[in-house]
Amino acid sequence: MLLEVNDIHVFYGKVAALRGVSLEVDEGEIVALIGANGAGKTTTLKTISGLRPLSAGRISFQGKDISRVPAHKRAQLGIGQAPEGRGIFPGMTVEENLLMGAYARKEDHSKDLADVYEMFPRLAERKSQFGGTMSGGEQQMLTIGRALMTNPKVLLLDEPSMGLAPMLVAQIFDIVKEINERGTTVLLVEQNAHQALQLAHRAYVLETGAVVRSAAASDLLHDPQVRAAYLGGD
Ligand code: ATP
Repeated sequence: MLLEVNDIHVFYGKVAALRGVSLEVDEGEIVALIGANGAGKTTTLKTISGLRPLSAGRISFQGKDISRVPAHKRAQLGIGQAPEGRGIFPGMTVEENLLMGAYARKEDHSKDLADVYEMFPRLAERKSQFGGTMSGGEQQMLTIGRALMTNPKVLLLDEPSMGLAPMLVAQIFDIVKEINERGTTVLLVEQNAHQALQLAHRAYVLETGAVVRSAAASDLLHDPQVRAAYLGGD
């Protein structure tokens, strides 16, 4: 197993955000995490990448316990994160933003930059433009591109479709598929449960800080309860 999250508990002050979440991600998979606002999806990703401490439980990556490993070391081990809300550097150019992703890497990353430009031609066209002047969708692409520059083994994607026009949403999902086909494992958090389940191999449903279902994505897509709760009942 590439990534194993075992019974993790996470608090914000006294408030429990995760109350024993367990999940697994195997090499080559796209795994989706779905659930209502506040269910704990973002917290799960942040705890895996090391941005939030856990108070109990264990996270293993490639068989090693990384529960206490600092975030930057986890990035070096191969855990890449494209955070919600984008978080690009507005005063740096597109290319400088991308290169920040490779900052801690010693090996040559010119191939990764070429790959990112191939996957996101828009970023190539705009490589000298300031990040802050890019559109919402372009900034989303830049965030994903920057995470790819760390050459991750697993890419944690938090709401990549958030705030995007429907056409761009479809494009972002296509790109996630392509990233996976090029060999990167993906753990995806999405409000857009319908599209996430169409793309993913497996999925977990989170409710108030706990996993309440896990199954093949196609099974969840056809499950009456999941449809009623997360897919608008249609
Ligand atoms: P959304 O889709 O709305 O982002 P989510 O499933 O990603 O929701 P989280 O953001 O992980 O949920 O939040 C889980 C719980 O932790 C929520 O009850 C939320 O209010 C709480 N929480 C999240 N961040 C903080 C914080 N910085 N301080 C206090 N409580 C927080």
